[in-house]
Amino acid sequence: MVNLGGIVPLSTVDWLGRAAMVVFLRGCPLRCPHCHNRMLQTGERLVTFHSISSRVVSEVKGLPAASRSGGKSGHLLQIDLDDASERASSKPFVDAIVLSGGEPLQQIEACIRLFRLARGLKLATALETSGCFPEGLESLLAKGLVDRVFLDLKTALSEPDYERATGRPGIAARVAESLEICFKSGAAFEVRCTVFPENPTARQLANIAETICRMKAQYPENRLDYLLLQQGTPREGEARFEPVSVQDLDKMARTCETGCKGKLQVRIRAPPRIAWKN
Ligand code: SF4
Repeated sequence: MVNLGGIVPLSTVDWLGRAAMVVFLRGCPLRCPHCHNRMLQTGERLVTFHSISSRVVSEVKGLPAASRSGGKSGHLLQIDLDDASERASSKPFVDAIVLSGGEPLQQIEACIRLFRLARGLKLATALETSGCFPEGLESLLAKGLVDRVFLDLKTALSEPDYERATGRPGIAARVAESLEICFKSGAAFEVRCTVFPENPTARQLANIAETICRMKAQYPENRLDYLLLQQGTPREGEARFEPVSVQDLDKMARTCETGCKGKLQVRIRAPPRIAWKN
C-alpha cells in the first residue's frame, strides 16, 4: 500500500521545461515552519499501488483507469501495463513524472515502483526531496531511476540553524550527505532554497553557496545546474507576512555568485503577483 497525498496530472512549474505529472506521497519527518504542504506532513490515505499505476497510465496514455466493475460480477478491471504501453501510439503530452511530498523518500518502495513504472512509460523522472533520507536517495540513484533531483536546502548546513529551520534535530548532517551523493552520482540536479524573511538569511545563503562551490571543486564531473532561490510566500492558513522582495532576492543571488567567483550560477524565482481590479 502507498500513503498517497494526491496526484496533479499536469504541472509545468515543478520541472521547468517539462510537462510533468506530480505524485505527492504523504508523510514527512520534518516540521518546517512555512511548510508548503502541511496537510501532507501526517495522516494516512492508503491506496494500492495498482490503483496509482492505473491512474498514471490513464493520465499519460489516455486509457481508462482500472475501476470496480458496475456489473453483477463486481470483478476488478485491470490494465496490463506492458500492454497499455504497447497499445498507446499517440505521443503523450505528459513527458515526465515528479515524486514530491511530504517527503517521498519516506516511502522508498513506492518511489522505486513508481519510477520503474515511469521508465516503462518512457517518462523522464525527477525527485523533490528535503535530503533527510540519504540512504534512499543513494539507492534510487544507484538503480538509475532518477533523471533529476531537486534538493531543498532549508538553511546553512549546520546546527542549530537546521534544527530551527526544520523543527527536528540532527538533520543538517543527513542533508549534507544527500548533497554529496548528488555531486558524486553524476545525476542532473539543482539545489533549491525557499527564502523567507527570517530564514535563510543572506549570511546563511552565502554559506550554502560556499559549501556548494567546495563540492563542485571536489567533484568536477558533477551535473549541478544551478542554485535556485525561490521567494517564500505565506501558505494557506498561515499569518500574512511581506515576502522578501525580488530585488533583495536578486541581491542575495549576486552575492552568492560573487562569493563563488562566478563558478556557481544562482537563479531566482518568484510567483507572479496578481492584482485584482473591480
Ligand atoms: S520538508 Fe517539505 S513537506 Fe516536510 S515539513 Fe518541510 S516543507 Fe513540509
